[in-house]
Amino acid sequence: MQSQPLSRLNKPAEPGAATPAPKVGFVSLGCPKALVDSEQILTQLRAEGYETAKSYDGADLVIVNTCGFIDAAVQESLDAIGEALAENGKVIVTGCLGAKKDTDGSDLIQKIHPKVLAVTGPHAVGEVMASVHTHLPKPHEPFIDLVPPQGVKLTPKHYAYLKISEGCNHRCSFCIIPSMRGDLVSRPIAELMLEAENLFKAGVKELLVISQDTSAYGIDVKFRSGFWNGRPVKTHMTQLTEALGQLAKQYGAWVRLHYVYPYPHVDEIIPLMADGHVVPYLDIPMQHAHPEVLKRMKRPASGEKNLERILKWRQMNPDLTIRSTFIAGFPGETEAEFEYLLDFLKEAQIDRLGCFAYSPVEGATANALDNPVPEEVREERRGRVMLLQEEISKQRLKAKVGKTVKVLIDELTPSGAIGRSAADAPEIDGVVHVKKPFEPHKKLAVGQFYDVEITRADAHDLWGES
Ligand code: SF4
Repeated sequence: MQSQPLSRLNKPAEPGAATPAPKVGFVSLGCPKALVDSEQILTQLRAEGYETAKSYDGADLVIVNTCGFIDAAVQESLDAIGEALAENGKVIVTGCLGAKKDTDGSDLIQKIHPKVLAVTGPHAVGEVMASVHTHLPKPHEPFIDLVPPQGVKLTPKHYAYLKISEGCNHRCSFCIIPSMRGDLVSRPIAELMLEAENLFKAGVKELLVISQDTSAYGIDVKFRSGFWNGRPVKTHMTQLTEALGQLAKQYGAWVRLHYVYPYPHVDEIIPLMADGHVVPYLDIPMQHAHPEVLKRMKRPASGEKNLERILKWRQMNPDLTIRSTFIAGFPGETEAEFEYLLDFLKEAQIDRLGCFAYSPVEGATANALDNPVPEEVREERRGRVMLLQEEISKQRLKAKVGKTVKVLIDELTPSGAIGRSAADAPEIDGVVHVKKPFEPHKKLAVGQFYDVEITRADAHDLWGES
């Protein structure tokens, strides 16, 4: 084995080679609650390697944490912002006054001090940090920073998951997630946008939005507004999807939505898929179609409405791919209820489908329901669903032959590459096998998009040439 001289492997950084840390000035006004907010922001700044400046002119940027309680406090805060603008020029405002509106409904601070870079309300560490990252990015220091800016990822470099919330407010009778993870807790929108931006900057071409219930995003915080790029954005699925779609467009990437429950506001998401950056794909775990079974499952949606919505969405965007999961043999499921599910599937023509035989998870309340279905019947019903789905999938994929679809390459193979179209999520859906191009100058590369003409299909996958 050839050995490397030790000096090359362990070469220390040249003295003074590291970029000096950016400095942030901090003005903290207001009550003890505001003080705690200031401490949290300062802690986060320190944790990320920013330094604090003791004077205005030694700072690269100033944060003013304001108070808006009484008139005198408002004036003091406005004066402090004015002073920071005059002395330094780069100012981010946070705190109670940031949430205050003028009598005409406009943002008070922006009106009086239009030059401030960003304004947030109180308890907004994530939003303040997102603004700091935008206006005073800290250069990544490979010798000091333990974690790359996009965080540690277990997925390939070109796709990543974005978890937007934790927990769930539903109590489906077959599920124990709420008892393990608690009620819904949505992550701040500014924090999500920052994470998404870091991922795109690091080369991610497909962002997969996940949660237990993506449609419920923001319910726990009453859809409060956060700030992204200096403008308010609601903690709401529609606004999050719109903002992620715009970001994905800048980076030539895709956003894919998983675990979407078919609430009425999902109608607003379909138009956001028009330019293809939010891919026309919805993963909607429906679990069953019969109203009585859904009731016993304590599911938040009814089967009939699901069908109505699917048909309407397909009218709005004929390219829409729908993925779903179903449970066969749920306790009490009669043969008639099961056949109702089969009829639903024939009509709904779900593109991608997973079906599980009911499994009595320990602790699930459904285990106590009357008339459990014997295991062999559960398995037999699962088999019937999959057989039907195979035929549906075959027909739907056959309709793509002759069309050109955009494909993101996941891996190279001796005969070309394996990739996925907008209709295929990684790991769970089918793939597109892309033939090696004849022309030597045309090369397929992992993490790149190609237009692929589809030449063949089976019940799961497609084949084509770029
Ligand atoms: S199945 Fe999904 S929606 Fe129902 S309780 Fe579990 S996590 Fe929540």
